[in-house]
Amino acid sequence: MLEGEQSAIVEAWRFQQEAGISEIPVSIEKYLRAANAEVKVRYDLKNDEAGQVFQFGDRTIIIVNGNHSSERQRFTILHELAHIRLGLPSKHGSSTSVSDLLSYSRRPKEEVLCDVFAAECLLPNRFFRPDVRKSTCSFQSVQQLAERYEASLTATGSRYATYSDEPCAWILADDQRIRFVASSASLRNARFFVRIGIEIPKRSVLGRLARGDSTVRPLVAEAVAAYVWVDNPLRGISEFEETAVLQPSLNQGLALLVAEPIEVERQARDFIWETEKRNGRLR
Ligand SMILES: [Zn+2]
Repeated sequence: MLEGEQSAIVEAWRFQQEAGISEIPVSIEKYLRAANAEVKVRYDLKNDEAGQVFQFGDRTIIIVNGNHSSERQRFTILHELAHIRLGLPSKHGSSTSVSDLLSYSRRPKEEVLCDVFAAECLLPNRFFRPDVRKSTCSFQSVQQLAERYEASLTATGSRYATYSDEPCAWILADDQRIRFVASSASLRNARFFVRIGIEIPKRSVLGRLARGDSTVRPLVAEAVAAYVWVDNPLRGISEFEETAVLQPSLNQGLALLVAEPIEVERQARDFIWETEKRNGRLR
């Protein structure tokens, strides 16, 4: 966990309480009222510029890029409010101003902490975690939850994998390289690790989509061998169901990897072994 992450989350909980957030999708208006802030939508910002924040006395003005989707604008507003609430100076440079959980390793710590705060405000733990646990672990569930919370797929998927009890990972790539990976605790325990900055694996569903391979379809789960994604053997996992999609307008590719629940796989293997033994094939 990044230094300062826990206090950013606690501050987000405090902010939710002050704003009186009691249902989802969360009301951005309530947050703005609690922060004595107002939003100005502008259409002349560069595409990689998500927003800015200014303070005049006790009044806060947030500028958002009106050309971005409404889900993204919701995230941006909360990210900008985070700069004020957490007292962190904005480090938006020309290449780091798009804040949508694009936690590129080069992103300044202040920006990552503001993203953590924004994600917690948009997808509050107390609603989101139970929703994740109730859902079947699939890309479709991420889409449904993104709609329910009026959040981007990118932000929703990242938190989805973090909270899931299933062994799964959410992967974000630009047109060539892996930029962000969030994985569930059970998958990390199986020694899953994908290095940020590597090229998208060519034989993965995401890699084939990015190449324009016509034998693969977006949003359709396909089995891929675990070694396509990782170099080391995984504990109890040999295969993933991979579902991927390209979002050309954002220059992004997204993938969800889901491994067979490890326990189930192990039990199945034991069962086969027991059966074989009973049948006298193994001695
Ligand atoms: Zn920022």
